[in-house]
Amino acid sequence: VKLLKNIRYLITQNEEREVLENIDILIHEDEIYEINGGLMDYVNPETVIDCSEKVVLPGLINAHTHSSMTLLRGISDNSLLQDWLENYIFPAEDDIEEIDAYLGTLLASIEMLESGTTCFNDMYFHMENVADAVEDTGIRAVLSKGLTDIEDKADLYGAENLIRTYAGHDTIDIGVAPHSVYTCSEDLLLDAKELAEKYDSLYHIHLSETEKENQDLIDDHGMTPTEYLDELDILDENVIAAHGTHLTDDDMERLQITGTGLAHNPAANMKLGSGRADVIQLHERGLNIGLGTDGPASNNSLNMFDEAKLAALIHKEKDPESLTEQEILDMLTINAAEALNIDGRVGSIEKGKKADLVTIDLNQASMRPFYRARGIISNLIYSFDGDVSEVFVNGDLLVEDGKLQTVDREEVFKAVQSRVPKFEQE
Ligand SMILES: [Zn+2]
Repeated sequence: VKLLKNIRYLITQNEEREVLENIDILIHEDEIYEINGGLMDYVNPETVIDCSEKVVLPGLINAHTHSSMTLLRGISDNSLLQDWLENYIFPAEDDIEEIDAYLGTLLASIEMLESGTTCFNDMYFHMENVADAVEDTGIRAVLSKGLTDIEDKADLYGAENLIRTYAGHDTIDIGVAPHSVYTCSEDLLLDAKELAEKYDSLYHIHLSETEKENQDLIDDHGMTPTEYLDELDILDENVIAAHGTHLTDDDMERLQITGTGLAHNPAANMKLGSGRADVIQLHERGLNIGLGTDGPASNNSLNMFDEAKLAALIHKEKDPESLTEQEILDMLTINAAEALNIDGRVGSIEKGKKADLVTIDLNQASMRPFYRARGIISNLIYSFDGDVSEVFVNGDLLVEDGKLQTVDREEVFKAVQSRVPKFEQE
């Protein structure tokens, strides 16, 4: 039993979006067991954290990333997507071994946990090794083997095996991830759908990231990527589409009607010159939108507080009255959980949900002052830099004093650095 005592402000992200004051949270095993005042009088917890000068909020969710790519962070910072992929990323990825996926995800998990992210949605290869790193750090994740069949046949057997291996796991969910309409045949897109339906898994795909992707599909099939997926009966609430930077009104309506979720990745879209999703309109249409960093080679950060500020700013540039700080916080937490179909377990702080939560010290310059309790949320989105105090995932205290306790951080940094010469290009 663990107790978070005298919480100054508890941002619940429950249905009413309540912010509670001077309250306790009791964590029993992996669950939020009780939220109330004066719980100290009734229990004898093994861990007590005094939160009288702290804010507590649900752990943030990174709705789209490729965590192993921390190893390629900074490999190329000045190219368009196609050039970046073909001339830098694909050649480097040929050299990514199992140990690299493991180390890259360890590094990514340290960075995410230490900036308040407790769950990430990942698509890549060597996913067994990614899963090992997820288990070793204690972070929560939705993991999918990226599938393509441009060169070789896709490893659907491996994707199914991954689902079976982690069935019923506490902190790992497995999805199915055909990479995109331009790297997957129609057969593969449909086979992946069948597999996802068989296990009620998430279907995770890149969608309309660039104008070229749209134009190529229109040339080949006479349809936009969204129209194409919809005509194949693939879109529904078990699908999360990453990017959606080039959607027509008809595309947006199809995503809305089918209940498809969207991962919005503003930093990566800006950095690779891919364009800008019309998040104002997509949000008005009621889509479940989560924020994602995309891979650390195109961001290059995994700090979701940075992503949140950027997401607010690029849309406010167009319409400053749109997307309130509360709506951006929703995208970081409960809306992302809904888009990933894990909102029954995480995304808000409520009795019976898994204890994935973050504490932040109010005694730091970027959190002062605040105007009423709601002003805390404004500070979180616009001025806070991600320097959190404690982080819990599934009831386990993973981060203390801002540092991850489950792995030897210095050893991970050294091991990651030792892999760099292999990826260095002329
Ligand atoms: Zn991506």
